Amino acid sequence: MDCIFCKIIDGSIPSRKIYEDEEVLAFHDIQPAAAQHALIIPKKHIATMNDVQAEDWQLIGSVHRAAQIVAKELGVAESGYRLINNCGKDGGQVVFHIHYHLLGGEKLGPLHA
Ligand code: IMP
Repeated sequence: MDCIFCKIIDGSIPSRKIYEDEEVLAFHDIQPAAAQHALIIPKKHIATMNDVQAEDWQLIGSVHRAAQIVAKELGVAESGYRLINNCGKDGGQVVFHIHYHLLGGEKLGPLHA
């Protein structure tokens, strides 16, 4: 499968790992949009939020659990952070392997200017 995040999971593309377990991988975004910018992904290839099936919700919970760990690891848990999933074209999704952006390490702008 020609998926850049699957290649990061299998190690054929290098990444700066922050957290890994059997189900989930977290690594630094290659083009950070904030002082701290991590990506948290399930190892199972699921293209978008729309493709999450009933049997996957526990896995999505594991991704959120990993995000909590990553926030602590990056030192942003107390100061706060933003967890974002971009879904589809209008959501700005570029990589079609479901992922959450964890942004922090600075005061982020409001959603409504
Ligand atoms: P999207 O727009 O929500 O799909 O976000 C995809 C993210 O993947 C972007 O923030 C990219 O900078 C990031 N990205 C793409 N390729 C790599 C890579 O090889 N390593 C780490 N991050 C990547």
